[in-house]
Amino acid sequence: MSITVVGSVAYDSIETPSGRRERCLGGAATYFALAASFFCDVRVIAVVGEDFGPEQETVFERHHIDTRGIERAAGKSFFWEGSYLENLNEAKTRNTELNVFATFEPKIPEAYRDSEFLFLANIDPVLQRRVREAMPQVKLVAGDTMNYWINDYRPALLEVLKGLDILLINDAETRVLGENQNLVKAAKAVMSMGPRILVAKHGEYGATLFHSQRNGAMGERTFRAPALPLEEVVDPTGAGDSFAGGFFGYLAAQKELTPGVFRRAMFYGSVMGSFAVERFGTERLEQLTRAEIDERFVRFRELTHLD
Ligand code: AMP
Repeated sequence: MSITVVGSVAYDSIETPSGRRERCLGGAATYFALAASFFCDVRVIAVVGEDFGPEQETVFERHHIDTRGIERAAGKSFFWEGSYLENLNEAKTRNTELNVFATFEPKIPEAYRDSEFLFLANIDPVLQRRVREAMPQVKLVAGDTMNYWINDYRPALLEVLKGLDILLINDAETRVLGENQNLVKAAKAVMSMGPRILVAKHGEYGATLFHSQRNGAMGERTFRAPALPLEEVVDPTGAGDSFAGGFFGYLAAQKELTPGVFRRAMFYGSVMGSFAVERFGTERLEQLTRAEIDERFVRFRELTHLD
């Protein structure tokens, strides 16, 4: 099984209480692809600039991530600068430069056409929609977005939501998008916009899966996965995308999508998010092994198991 993902491949400058890093490899699609690559084949659609070097390419190669859909364009790669000095759970964006993404026309390589899973990682909703429309054959579509797009690009985002099965966003974004301070009511409002499953992430407190039923009822289909209490969070950047990569990567690797599989996927999402924050940028995901993932999954089970 394979996932095609479209989203930012970027350089990030990050400041956290643990220190500062300039222009490290980042981007929503990068974190997602690295995390998902431990579970299934991953193919990326993105654009990078002339500043994107062999060192960054190697990171993708080492994880056998298909980069034929990463176009090279004249100009600079997407650049994001964020700070977590005030709040470790929420990045304060200091600067976003779309650069080569501003004029990007996504092209889907022929070799990607048989992907059954599509992930629309964080990027301009207009690009997310184009890729969604160009891949009508996919079996399951999930996506992510952020306040930047929710606040200023709402009409385009609403079009994307219509084509999604699953939306993964954080709880604050759920409240803004669903225009309700109550998370359950906001979740219902968001699901009425398209996705039948909403995964609302709570940073260091885990994530909740909401599943809309035809009669609009919710309850037994709601499931909460914890996050691992960690002594030190070095850099929260990419935690959400890594969660999405673990969650969707695990789903894509299963024969059948049962409610139990979705529950385990929530745990694998939490596992990948917990690794991502242990070091700056993609450092921890780059060094990770499948054995460490499985070990941590067991720790997560023990954290919440009653008997
Ligand atoms: P998160 O998982 O939410 O921490 O995502 C962090 C990544 O999102 C960073 O590596 C950034 O490069 C990327 N990012 C930040 N702002 C945007 C944006 N407006 N569109 C797409 N990607 C972004």
